[in-house]
Amino acid sequence: MEKNLRQASLCIHSGYEPKNGEPVELPIVQSTTFKYESSDEMAKLFDLERDGYFYTRLANPTNDAVACKIAALEGGIGAVLTSSGQAANFFAVFNICEAGGHIVASNEIYGGTYNLFGVTLKKLGIDCTFVSPDATEEEIGQAFRPNTKALFGETISNPGCKVLDIEKFARIAHSHGVPLVVDNTFATPINCRPFEWGCDIVTHSTTKYMDGHATQVGGCVVDSGNFDWMAHADKYPGLCTSDESYHGLTYAKDFGKKGYITKIVAQLMRDFGSTPAPQNSFLLNLGLETLAVRMERHCSNAQRVAEYLSADPRVAWVRYSGLPGDSSHALAIKYMPGGSCGVIAFGLKGSRETAIKFMDSLKMINIATHVADLRTCVLHPASHTHRQLSDEQLRAAGIAPEFIRLSVGLEDADDIIDDIKQALG
Ligand SMILES: *Cc1c(COP(=O)(O)O)cnc(C)c1O
Repeated sequence: MEKNLRQASLCIHSGYEPKNGEPVELPIVQSTTFKYESSDEMAKLFDLERDGYFYTRLANPTNDAVACKIAALEGGIGAVLTSSGQAANFFAVFNICEAGGHIVASNEIYGGTYNLFGVTLKKLGIDCTFVSPDATEEEIGQAFRPNTKALFGETISNPGCKVLDIEKFARIAHSHGVPLVVDNTFATPINCRPFEWGCDIVTHSTTKYMDGHATQVGGCVVDSGNFDWMAHADKYPGLCTSDESYHGLTYAKDFGKKGYITKIVAQLMRDFGSTPAPQNSFLLNLGLETLAVRMERHCSNAQRVAEYLSADPRVAWVRYSGLPGDSSHALAIKYMPGGSCGVIAFGLKGSRETAIKFMDSLKMINIATHVADLRTCVLHPASHTHRQLSDEQLRAAGIAPEFIRLSVGLEDADDIIDDIKQALG
């Protein structure tokens, strides 16, 4: 049934299909373990010879149903849920890259991912070279080394709101024999399906629009099944040679197209955990059921707010790809013709203090370290996430002192604009 359904219908019907007399809503299987009648039956599960559940750290019916829904939405062949977006990005890379390896990443990415790649992976012996996504293919190509294992970018960058040229990045990755990994958190598969543009692996912080109600922290890794690991067997020994910790099986051979995602479950979930609670996956699923409807409204509200801001003389600049003058506008029309997301970056004329005064004057809009939620919220990196930095250090990090990230929610657009209007004084 699922093959023919469109996105809004997949949001509701994929992943879990109740049989006769079963509950219509996805049941929460809040159980760590599963019982078997014979020792042999469970042994077959351990050998990955049979599908089934034995311990929730590795697999759980509620978690799997939600992972299947996200895989269907992205057009992937398999997915695994993680307990956070950070864990998803870590696993996506660590699954194919070990000590002595190297990755190339866009420098326009979420601060947590920047830190994970630039600082923490280094402690595991993995180097990262950051490149400007605006650089030419030749310039980005120069960052690659013989030990490079992946190229990474964000469909729409957090917080810079820059749209990634996915086809360009895919060309660069594939010409160097590595997969393109894209964090699709902000666009969501409703507005962009990176696999259709050559991306190989998609990650998500499901904490954001997919949940949409600020109820759970979670992540997801989705595999397109398109990257031919065996064609680059020397680069990916973890996938293409036998795993002694798993009875000598070879993921890319024994599981074919599903090798990458099977290895994440069998090896990384087994050894690192980071499994979401089934209760959280249930909450995530409730969010996913309305994702298509909500994204439409996030985008139309953000478009109106962005247009209002860009017409106000007190506003110095606005970054929203829906604005015709925006530097990402052409890429947004190509990759996300139905809309991008609800996040806008803008700056007020004045100083750090002008931004603080504006935020403190807001009445309905929340000040929150959150984004992509049904409640409109603002964050001022200079006063919050990056508050230890001077104005000069901030500019060096690519963040202006006046930079405000506005995540436009699902309230009436007129109320959002009224609140901004009164706070601008
Ligand atoms: C929030 C976010 C993350 C990290 O996700 P958590 O769920 O907070 O761990 C990663 N990537 C992007 C684009 C994000 O917005």
